Amino acid sequence: MKKDVTFYIRPNILALEAYSTARDEYKGEMGIFLDANENPFDNGVNRYPDPMQKKMKALLSRIKAVPVENIFVGNGSDEAIDLCFRVFCEPGKSSAVAICPSYGMYKVAAAMNDIEMREVLLNEDFSLPVEKLLSAVDESTRLMFVCSPNNPTSNAFEISEIRMLAERFDGILVVDEAYIDFSSKGSMLSCLEQYPNVIVLQTLSKARAMAGLRTGLAFASQTIISYFNRVKYPYNVNVLAQQKAEELLQNDISAQISVILSERNRLSEALSACPDVIKVYPSDANFLLVKVKDARALYKKLLESEAKVIVRDRSSQRLCAGCLRITVGTPEENDKLLEMMQK
Ligand SMILES: *Cc1c(COP(=O)(O)O)cnc(C)c1O
Repeated sequence: MKKDVTFYIRPNILALEAYSTARDEYKGEMGIFLDANENPFDNGVNRYPDPMQKKMKALLSRIKAVPVENIFVGNGSDEAIDLCFRVFCEPGKSSAVAICPSYGMYKVAAAMNDIEMREVLLNEDFSLPVEKLLSAVDESTRLMFVCSPNNPTSNAFEISEIRMLAERFDGILVVDEAYIDFSSKGSMLSCLEQYPNVIVLQTLSKARAMAGLRTGLAFASQTIISYFNRVKYPYNVNVLAQQKAEELLQNDISAQISVILSERNRLSEALSACPDVIKVYPSDANFLLVKVKDARALYKKLLESEAKVIVRDRSSQRLCAGCLRITVGTPEENDKLLEMMQK
């Protein structure tokens, strides 16, 4: 039997008295607001934002079919990643486990919080090393990070394997689904209720086209979300970001996703036929990991080409020797990339 999730929460956070904002104490929308020392003259941003982003969460709740109480909105996924460490880990004492290669922020957030990060290499074919991940866990381990679809390897893991980790790991499993809208492998969101120790991270930055707004999402049990809300900065998502997200969340993105997916296939095939390319890995995301003959030289060639194409050199990452990471662009951008590759 697993422990109750509160067992994993840092004792000082369990005891924390959260800052109560003026907007927490009076929640109505109408009236004369003389409670927050704001400038009363309206310019669109003179009032503090809703600390709980209620309108945004109502929209997200409908889109994701998750109750509002199970949703956290942060200043990018990076805020949610940092909160995982601040809520669950004791600096200098706790440890965390993550797959490798993966998103760099897990390691940075661990280091900032003085938490030992144990990186477990993916299998050679980029599949999930379930037993190795579980063997890296000991008494001090509070968090485990699995990114699916994974950045930079671009593959999604089997949902049955992620569930196995959730069931067998005695701690908090963080599943980063930043690229889930491009994957056909399925999300952990639909089984969140079964797993009180799982946090699903998603973001509005990728498929939802709002990277500039800095809005990351976390989905978890009410208990976990309530501690995230206590520890976050009170006004973590600003007025303009909330308004713009509410507007853009009304848009249907399925047509854009279809274009990106068909372009992903077209790019993958065309790149595979390029003389500089050794291999294009199968992708469940909106980018391709491409093994080439000379990554640095090709990176430079594309950058200095007439179209000035900027890709990401991932060749220094483990298991990614010789690899570039290429985002799927618009059809016109992809045409240009291919034209420059063929030169
Ligand atoms: C891009 C990305 C994110 C999103 O980060 P934001 O801070 O929400 O923009 C999260 N996780 C992974 C793996 C990513 O590649």
